[in-house]
Parts: sequence; structure tokens; C-alpha cells
Amino acid sequence: MPPSDDEKNRAKDGGVPPESRSRRRLRLPLARHLRSARNWIALGVLAPVGMLVLSAIMLLDLRRDAWEKAEQTSKNLLQVIERDIARNIEIIDLSLQAVVDNIKAPGVAEISPALRQLVLFDRATTARDMGVMLVLDENGDSILDSNAVPARRVNNADRGYFQLHKANADLGLHISPPLKSRLLGETVLVLSRRIDRPDGSFGGVVLASLKLSYFSTLFDRIGLGREGGINLYLRDGTRLMRYPAVEADIGANIAGAPTFQRFLAEHSGSFRGLSVRDGVERYYAYTQVGDRPLILNVALGTHEIEAEWQAKAAVLGLAVLVLCGLTVLLSLLFGRELRRSATMQAELAKLARTDSLTGLANRRQFEEAFERESRASARTGRPLALLVIDADHFKTFNDRFGHAVGDAVLRGLADTLMRSVRRPGDLAARIGGEEFAVLMPGTDREGAGRVAAAIHDTTRTLMLPSAGIGPGSVTVSIGLAVSSAGGAADLFRRADAALYEAKSGGRNQTRSASDGASVPPPDRQSPRLAAI
Ligand code: GH3
Ligand code: MG
Ligand code: MG
Repeated sequence: MPPSDDEKNRAKDGGVPPESRSRRRLRLPLARHLRSARNWIALGVLAPVGMLVLSAIMLLDLRRDAWEKAEQTSKNLLQVIERDIARNIEIIDLSLQAVVDNIKAPGVAEISPALRQLVLFDRATTARDMGVMLVLDENGDSILDSNAVPARRVNNADRGYFQLHKANADLGLHISPPLKSRLLGETVLVLSRRIDRPDGSFGGVVLASLKLSYFSTLFDRIGLGREGGINLYLRDGTRLMRYPAVEADIGANIAGAPTFQRFLAEHSGSFRGLSVRDGVERYYAYTQVGDRPLILNVALGTHEIEAEWQAKAAVLGLAVLVLCGLTVLLSLLFGRELRRSATMQAELAKLARTDSLTGLANRRQFEEAFERESRASARTGRPLALLVIDADHFKTFNDRFGHAVGDAVLRGLADTLMRSVRRPGDLAARIGGEEFAVLMPGTDREGAGRVAAAIHDTTRTLMLPSAGIGPGSVTVSIGLAVSSAGGAADLFRRADAALYEAKSGGRNQTRSASDGASVPPPDRQSPRLAAI
């Protein structure tokens, strides 16, 4: 039967009250997007890419922070150490200058050696890392000693600083490479100035020795990591001191090293370079010490600067990669599940609209198609033809051969209908036990009559030799109706009435609804059940 008004309304609005229907319409696009497997897979790829980009930006930021921190630390250190060294050298130089000036003062030459020592050497010589202050005469012999009266006997005429001062009147303050002190027995730097006679000729040298322990005490307090180092050089490339201290490093000359060339290029600066000493890449911050011919640098191992960052990056990177992998995997799995469930739903929907015995459309599908085509016919004015087909005396059939054979005959009838209905828009359906219908949009009475005749023809060839059912044993009665100009509202009822007429008119025939006239089947051999 055609669907009731109630059913029609429910089909139209899904049985939902109007206000929630409008809300549903708003939510619908989102819900559709969420159900799309492709969207989930795209999200599963895009989200990890976003995560990776963000993590990369964050890691680069962390790396920059690590470098900024290292740069700042080395610059601060450099400044503090440079000031300390510059101040101490200045103090020593002031003491040396005082000796140079005072030794020429009138009367100083005449006073007793003990008094002269008191006048010439201030307390600076007693500072912890100061070695000794000596005045050497023009022959290099010690004539005044800050720590002893009379002066301890030593001749330093062979020392480089002595010869330089002797040869050069304008040397000013001279700082020697590391030397083994003859008086102290330990390695010292010698700071010296020339003493001029009143006529300007060479009158000797005043010197102060500074123990290298001064630098080691100064540098040792600073932690720079295993690869870090602090170096003090003379401008000629001689290494005066290094932290951490290694005996062989002291006094070594690296004038030819590319790093050293860069130290010389500017008063202060920083760069990354390979150490000539051990081949380790370091970040160097360097500066000249005051206006002295000294270069100080603080070097940090680039590997150590980045070590903390690298550890963080490894953990973070790994975590992000795992998360990304999981996201991709889950999205793919979820997408696959969505696809599978969509396929299953489609299959279920198809099953719900198919008759399981015959494979024809079932009553539900027929009703939907009937509803749709009725509306289309009313809209376009094109005819809609309907055949209602009922197997004749099927009950007796069943009783005689059994239900299974009855079922086989029903399948045969379905096959007959499928072969008789060829147009793509036509629909053959099983709408009841042994009742079928054929819906044919755009087909007029004549066309429908031809299909009905074809059905009678094909039915006549139906046989089931195994059950003893021969050709012509199965017949059907058909009620035919075509929509009138007014629409297809009572199409089903009229076709049903025509079928009733066909039954009462003797079965195995088609009756048309409009004129009530019988449309005889092509061959009217009596196919009654009694004849089987
Ligand atoms: P008529 O010519 O007046 O149509 O006689 P009929 O016996 O075909 O009519 P009736 O409606 O009295 O009987 C229909 C019978 O169809 C009843 C039932 O035994 C049989 N039938 C209905 N559905 C099935 C089915 O799925 N399988 C089988 N084997 N038989 C069915
Ligand atoms: Mg029936
Ligand atoms: Mg019947």
C-alpha cells in the first residue's frame, strides 16, 4: 500500500520538532566533516606537521638562548679578569716607575743600602703573588733587592728584557715571557723598566717578578666546563698562562695560528674557531688587557654550550616524533574505521531495502520510489505506470509441493520480472508474500501493457523440472494502472482493483484500471493450477 500521510511527514522532516531541526541544520556541516574519513586523515597529517614546525621553532629558540647565555657569560668573565690583571700590572708598573724616578733623586745614592731599600721599594712588593723587585746595574748585576740587604748576588745580563732595555731607550714597561726565576726557583713573568743615567745612557734595569700562581689563583675560581679555557698571551703569540694549566702550554708560541691572527685584528671581539692546541671547536671572547701588549681570551667548547640544549632537544624531539607518529597512526586507523563503518552502513541500508528471498527491491524501497515518482509525475505531468502482480493459486502450489518449492517459484517469478523490466528508471519489487509490483516512470498505458504481456510470456516459460513443474504451470494476474492528469494519488488502489478484476475474470491475465477491459495474455492456454 502507498505510504500514509503520517509516514510521508515523518519522512520529510525526520520526526523532529521544527526548532531543533534548524539547530540540526547548523550542526550538520560540522557533523559531516567529522564523519569524513578523508578529513580525519588530513587532520592526522596536518596536526603533526604543525606540531613539528612549532617544536622546531621552540628548539631553535632554546638554542639561541643557550648561545646568548654563553656569550654573555664569557663577556662578563673576560671583563672581570681583564680588569684584575690590568689593575695589578698598573700597580706593579707604578712601583717600577717610582724606583726609576727615585733612584735619581739627589742624595739617594749616598744613603745607606738599608735606607735606600726602604726609600725605593714600597709595600707592593710584599703582595702575595709578587716575587721580588731588583735593580740591576748596567752590567746586569743586582744592586738593590726588595727582599734583602745587601742585595742577593745575581747577574741577569743574559735575560732578553735586559738586552732589550739596553738596546732600546723607549721600551717603557716590558713584560717578559715566562721565565724560571734565579732567586725564587719558580716560573715568573718579569715586568721591567730601563733606568737612564742623567746623560741618557743605559744605567741598568729595575724589574719586578710576578708569579704565575697569581693567574692560576685568579683563573681557578672560575668554572668553564671541561672544554672551556682562559688564555693570556703576549702580543708576539707567547702563551703566558692557561687555565686549566698544563706545563707544556706555558711559554708556547701560537703566533701562526688562525685564531691568534683574529685576536690581533681587533682590540676585543668574539668568534667561533678550531683550537690549534687540541682541535676542539670553541667560542672565543677576547680582549687586549688595558693598553698592555697582552691578549686575554675566554673560550667555551661549542659542544658544551649546546650540550644542555641538545639533551633537551633529543628528549623533546623524540617525544614530539612519538606523538606525531601516534597521531598519524590513530588518524589513519580512525579514518579506516570510519570508511569501514560507512561501507557497512551503506551495505546495511541496501540490505534494509532489498528482499532477502528474491533480491528484488522490498516493500520499503518500493514505497519510497512510489512516493518519489508520484511527486515527480505530478510535477512534470509525465505518466507513471504501475503493475501489481499476484501469483495465481499460489496457496495450492505451496500445499502441493511444499514451501521450499514455493520459494523457488517466487525466485523464478522475481527473475522473470527482472528480465521483463529493462529501463533504468523502472523498479520491480516484492511487496508481499507472492505479490509483486513494477513501477515504470514515463511509461504510458500502451507501454505498460507491453511489459505486462512480456511478463505473462516469460512466466509461461518458468519451470522447475526437479519438482515436476513444467512450462505454463505458473501464471500470474496483473493489475495495471497509469497516473491520470490529476496525479498518481490513487494509482495503487486502482491497480489493486484491476488486479482483483483480473483474478475474478479468470486469472492469468492483465486488467487495466481505466476501462476495466481485460488485456488478454498472448496465449490463453489454461494455465490453471488444476491443469498441473
Ligand atoms: P489467488 O490466485 O487468489 O491469488 O490464490 P492464492 O492462493 O495465490 O492466494 P492467497 O493470497 O490466498 O495465498 C497466497 C499464498 O502464498 C499464501 C502462502 O501460502 C503463500 N505465500 C506467501 N508468502 C510466501 C512465501 O514467502 N513463500 C512461499 N513458499 N509461499 C508464500
Ligand atoms: Mg495474494
Ligand atoms: Mg495469489
